[in-house]
Amino acid sequence: EEKEYSFMVRVRMPGGRLTAAQYLAFDALANDRANGTLRITTRQGVQFHGVVKGDLKPAIAEINDTLLTTMAACGDVVRNVMTSPAPVRDAVHARLDQDARLLSAALLPRSRAYHEIFLDEAPTDAPESEPLYGATYLPRKFKIGLAIPQDNTIDVLTNDLGFIAVFEGDTLIGYNLAVGGGLGMTHNRPDTYPRLASVIGSVGPDDLIAAAEAVIALQRDHGDRSDRKRARLKYVVDAHGVDWVRATLADRYGLDLRETLPTPPLAVPDLLGWHDQGDGRWWLGVPVPSGRIADTDTARLRTALREIMRDFAADPVMTPQQDVLLTNIAADERAAVEGVLRAHGVRLDADQTMLERWTLACPALPTCGLALTEAERVRPEIVGALDAVLARHGLSGERISLRITGCPNGCARTYAGDIGLVGRMPGHYAIYVGGDFEGTVLSEKLLDRVKQEDLAATFEPLFAAWAAERTPGEAFGAFCRRVGLETLRERAGTPATR
Ligand code: SF4
Repeated sequence: EEKEYSFMVRVRMPGGRLTAAQYLAFDALANDRANGTLRITTRQGVQFHGVVKGDLKPAIAEINDTLLTTMAACGDVVRNVMTSPAPVRDAVHARLDQDARLLSAALLPRSRAYHEIFLDEAPTDAPESEPLYGATYLPRKFKIGLAIPQDNTIDVLTNDLGFIAVFEGDTLIGYNLAVGGGLGMTHNRPDTYPRLASVIGSVGPDDLIAAAEAVIALQRDHGDRSDRKRARLKYVVDAHGVDWVRATLADRYGLDLRETLPTPPLAVPDLLGWHDQGDGRWWLGVPVPSGRIADTDTARLRTALREIMRDFAADPVMTPQQDVLLTNIAADERAAVEGVLRAHGVRLDADQTMLERWTLACPALPTCGLALTEAERVRPEIVGALDAVLARHGLSGERISLRITGCPNGCARTYAGDIGLVGRMPGHYAIYVGGDFEGTVLSEKLLDRVKQEDLAATFEPLFAAWAAERTPGEAFGAFCRRVGLETLRERAGTPATR
């Protein structure tokens, strides 16, 4: 008797953009082929969980029928390309959208194997070649993100390759290149660690694809193929140094980098709630806790979104915060759209605490095979417990990012926000602090193996100290860095189990 295999299916959708029609097809697929939910990923993709083996091929075919693909959404290739989700209708955002699509299309593997296996394309005898990936593809997954300094919602520096587009008015001047980001690490392996990408120079407006191909080729040829835990580009960058990277890109891969373009500091805008798109229409950012679009006893988000897509064609954008932006809504439709959400019990951004608004959690148990403990399912409890502490110290209005993962792989970018909780073993988390909201500073491990029920007591003295001793406007991460981990450890509230 055959086991009942079930699969996770992930869609490649650059910049998280869908049409309303594509979304409606996904909604139907969630019912017919998966567990009745859609999940927005932290990389602006959509995942279907619980796809049983018999449904796998039809599910993939149905996704391809919408003109999207699952090809290269996983694997040792360039993954889903991320960019600013903001549906601002101006030249800057149009260019980001176009560039993300361009990168995604140009960096797809050429092999027809996917089409033959899943889409019944007739095999041909024609020899296949992968000019970029070669016969053995890349040593490991390769992540690319494209940001502007004003919108680093994607955490561009957590990518293997980040492009920061620099505009003067509506004119693109060029892209700064950041190489060697990546957050995955393995507990008890100090030679694995999270790293933010290093900015190494810039390229001109027409050199986006050439620059990407050069960096990918460098990683293809120099990444560690003997140890998957050390196979990402970040270890190549650290092993050889950025000067070597620059020189090798020039000498071997034909990429001459220019000086880094000056930019303002990276910032993260708030995209939830109502925003003017700039073309007379509006978008509504709807929070989706853990990115899970589902109908539950208290809120029927999936039904509400289906009705809105059907009645208002509000082409959705999936954000790296796992939220959804409903776009192209006319001014006189706003009340009706909001009414649909309210009628189905959906909590909007105004109903959320600041901490809830800025919390990410990966799926972890029961769907991720690598999970050491819970994340998505304990998100409400953890956020509630920490919110109570923040409220006691008059800090409820503060903008703090919290990221929870069930293992050290960091899928919810655990080491790049103000607070990271990293699954250590069942019911226990390592606490990371000292990162920043803008994604420019990594957090560091404050404590190991803290029980979930001790998290609030552990943070109580830390939040109390922040409230009492912060300099004007000092963010929690900056406060932690200034005070130092040693002092914070002495103040943290739980018994020493570390
Ligand atoms: Fe799974 Fe770990 Fe990624 Fe969470 S962080 S989704 S547990 S691999």
